Amino acid sequence: MKTTLRIDITVKDICEGFVYNELEGKGLFGLSGKLTIQPEYQRNYIYADGKKDVAVIQSLLKGYPLGLIYFNKVSDGKLEVLDGQQRITSFGRFVTDKFAVKDENGMEQYFGGLATDKQARILETKLLIYECEGTESEIKEWFRTINIAGVPLNNQELLNAVYSGPFVTLGKAEFSNSQNANIQKWGAYISGSVNRQEFLECALDWVSKGNIGDYMSSHRHDTNITELKTYFNSVIDWVSSVFKDVESEMRGLEWGRLYETYHAQPYDPAKVSKEIQKLYGDPYVKNRKGIFEYVLGGSTDTKLLDVRVFDDATKRSVYETQTAAANAKSESNCPLCALGHDANKTKIWKLAEMDADHVTAWSKGGATDIKNCQMLCKTHNRAKGNK
Ligand SMILES: [Zn+2]
Repeated sequence: MKTTLRIDITVKDICEGFVYNELEGKGLFGLSGKLTIQPEYQRNYIYADGKKDVAVIQSLLKGYPLGLIYFNKVSDGKLEVLDGQQRITSFGRFVTDKFAVKDENGMEQYFGGLATDKQARILETKLLIYECEGTESEIKEWFRTINIAGVPLNNQELLNAVYSGPFVTLGKAEFSNSQNANIQKWGAYISGSVNRQEFLECALDWVSKGNIGDYMSSHRHDTNITELKTYFNSVIDWVSSVFKDVESEMRGLEWGRLYETYHAQPYDPAKVSKEIQKLYGDPYVKNRKGIFEYVLGGSTDTKLLDVRVFDDATKRSVYETQTAAANAKSESNCPLCALGHDANKTKIWKLAEMDADHVTAWSKGGATDIKNCQMLCKTHNRAKGNK
C-alpha cells in the first residue's frame, strides 16, 4: 500500500476534459481523461441542491479549504475518486456553466460571467489529494486507520502525519500542549481545540498566509520553529495591544490577515476601546464579529457590521409614496435619477429594482425608521454606498 500526498493539482487540472452526464446525474471524467470521477459503485451526485454545490464554489472563492480528496490509483496512470466526487462534480459543473451562484450584490452569476480574477481564483486553487495505491483490502485498512473511532482526522492532523519530523514535533510542543501557560491568552483570539491541532494550524496559517502544506513541506526538516513562533507572537501582541478589552466575538477572527493589513497603522487603544463599546451597545449592529475590522479600517465600511435594514413594509410604503409623487411630477421615482440628465430622468423603477437607503447615514446617527428611509434605484444606492 502506497500513499502519496499531492498538493500540485488545481481545480483547472481536474476540470480539463470534465464530463457530466445530466441524465444519470453523474460527473464522469476529468484530469484530461485520466480521472474517473464516479466509478460504478459510487452513489450519484447529490450536491445539486443549490446549497451544497453553491457552498463548494463559495469556499473556493473565499479561499477556504475544500478538505481532503482521495484518489485510488488503478492502472497505467489512471485514477478513480475514492472520496471527493461530490465536491469535484460541483466545481466541474460550475466551471462548465451548469449552475450559478449569487455574487455580493445578490445577482446570479455563472462562471463564464465572473470577473477574470474570480475565475482565476477558482481555477488556480490547489487541492489536497491523497493518491492511494494498493489492493482493495489495503485501501479499506487505510481508511480505517485514518478514521479513529469514527472521528476522521482533520486536515492539520493529516498534515502532521504527512510531514512528520523535527519541525512538527517542536510545533506541537509549543502550540498543541494544553499545559502551555499561554493557551488561555491565545484562546481569547483563536477558536478550536489545542488537542485537535487547531492552534498549531492557526499559527501555520498566519505565517504561511494560508499555504500551510507548502510551508510544512519546505520546513519539514528544520530543527527550530523560530519564524513560526515569532510571527505568531507578533500577531497576538499586536491584537492585545490595539484592543484592550477581550470580547468573545474576537475568537477565531482572521487576525493574521488583519495584522498584515493594519499593523503598520497607529491606533489609540483608549479611543479604540471607547468606539468598540459604543458599537457593542448599538442595537442596529447585527454582526458584532465585524466590529473589530470596522474600527481598524477607520470606521467607514459599514458592510462589515451588517447594519439592520429597513423591513419590507417600510420599503413598500416609502416606495408607493415616492412613486405617486414622481408620477404627478412626471419624473423618476429615484430622486437621484430625477436630478440627472439622461433617459432615466423620467424612469419609474419597479420596487424590485430599488433599494432602501438611509437619508441620514446610519454612521452619522441616522435611525432605521420610515422617516429616514428613501428608495433609490440599485445603481444609485450602490454608488452612494454606506457613507
Ligand atoms: Zn437612480
